Amino acid sequence: MTLTTDLLVLGSGIAGQTAATAASEAGLDVILAEKTATLGGSTVMSGGWFAFSGTDEQRAEGEDDSTELFLKDMQEVGEFRNDTALLHAYLDRQEAAYRWLIAHGVRFREIEISSGQSAKRSHNSAIVEVMATLHHQFAEAGGTTLREHRAVQLLTAETGAVTGARLLSPAGEVDVSARYGVVLATGGFSRGEALLRIFAPEQLAAIPFGGKGNTGDGLRLAWRLGADMADMSFVSGTYGSHPDTGDVHELLTAYYMGAIIVNRGGERFTDESQSYKSLGRAVLREEDGLGIQIFDADVRAKSHPGIPLKDMDAIEALGHLHHAATLSELATLVGVDGERLERTIERYNAAIAANETDEQGRSSLCNGVGALRPIVRAPFYAYPAKSLMTTTYCGVKVNTDAQVIDVEGAVIDGLYAVGEVAGGFHGAAYMTGTSLGKGAIFGLHVAREAAARAEAQRDEVVA
Ligand SMILES: Cc1cc2nc3c(=O)[nH]c(=O)nc-3n(C[C@H](O)[C@H](O)[C@H](O)COP(=O)(O)OP(=O)(O)OC[C@H]3O[C@@H](n4cnc5c(N)ncnc54)[C@H](O)[C@@H]3O)c2cc1C
Repeated sequence: MTLTTDLLVLGSGIAGQTAATAASEAGLDVILAEKTATLGGSTVMSGGWFAFSGTDEQRAEGEDDSTELFLKDMQEVGEFRNDTALLHAYLDRQEAAYRWLIAHGVRFREIEISSGQSAKRSHNSAIVEVMATLHHQFAEAGGTTLREHRAVQLLTAETGAVTGARLLSPAGEVDVSARYGVVLATGGFSRGEALLRIFAPEQLAAIPFGGKGNTGDGLRLAWRLGADMADMSFVSGTYGSHPDTGDVHELLTAYYMGAIIVNRGGERFTDESQSYKSLGRAVLREEDGLGIQIFDADVRAKSHPGIPLKDMDAIEALGHLHHAATLSELATLVGVDGERLERTIERYNAAIAANETDEQGRSSLCNGVGALRPIVRAPFYAYPAKSLMTTTYCGVKVNTDAQVIDVEGAVIDGLYAVGEVAGGFHGAAYMTGTSLGKGAIFGLHVAREAAARAEAQRDEVVA
């Protein structure tokens, strides 16, 4: 079977869905092809945090943030390995995407400071509802969704330009030809054991997570056409999930509220204020790949029910959060050396009291912000956690228009990559909210550019 459309979008996460909805609302004929039977990929499993600055929510809370600070934070967290042009494109276009999301019914219910941020820049949304709404709006605008249609090959013209894709469905093959481009929005390879084995074998020790269809198909499709890659050496899981975590998002960042992280020997092994991706790398070197978050009643009181990363009540209900009246009893409960844990906490508290340099170089709660607090008030809590392989972030090289770049530095005509399949944006590590953020920002951009190409072609025909 052969179909023809204006824009073919492969993958139904935030990047693909934003591109598809915006393009169909701009009047394009759009096919959204999704490999699995359900829509939403890793996006619908996520915490729903979007990173934006200069928003109404920040203004309402008097939060002091700026694009300059946002840029500095992204570069620092990415260890200056990120493509600055992509960062500028994000910052220049963030307001348009933020306003577009709000106009499409998204409500940002809370803002928070999180991994890699030095201002409250993470905006929380009810992401499952957001995605359902965007998809509904896509259908209303006349878009076509093909579930269980996996892209297996990109189709090209003699010039090498991408003209469409071959999809494989339970009913057989479908060739879709697309007048104004093919958008790869196929996510990363957090479930792609073969690619993890090549690029980050040590990460196979992390708990596999993310969308079930996220096996790196988009990267392979683009590589067959000579696409270049970016950031492939920086794959890391996210630290903070219980070893028995299920398919539902369970991640606790009590360390950004005042917890320390110890190994089974009762010793701290890293600066807990770093990006949770850097912590994800550090914890893999510890026994059983395990880091136990230890905190006291004051930190426990900061639980925020219903808000991902901060919901200790939900985690306690799962039986994954332990507590005890003394540190030594707590240590016994979670299999940690009790005497050494007590000494570790004594040293940690003493350094705070004396304003001395911390033995792991920690000077703040999160990325330079927030004063350290001693762990003193019983009961004491322990949350054993591992690294969760949620996302990969590295991928095909793109320019600021999300056009895929080949190994010679040339644009592959007709091929675009948005969201987690595209590399180069994050560099060495990721700041919370920038993945959903870039999915929406670049998804919206490719849709608008495709609509502009269609209009220019219509004008040419008329002229
Ligand atoms: C637990 C968890 C929490 C997270 N929390 C946050 C957060 O709060 N903020 C943030 O910014 N980021 C967060 N992330 C990361 C973020 O969710 C993802 O990076 C982002 O959602 C990726 O969006 P995407 O549209 O690129 O891909 P996805 O949402 O993964 O969608 C890709 C889709 O493409 C489909 N697909 C794959 N191959 C093919 C093919 N060959 N043909 C057709 N379809 C295909 C997949 O099945 C999938 O549905 C989190 C991730 C996880 C797992």
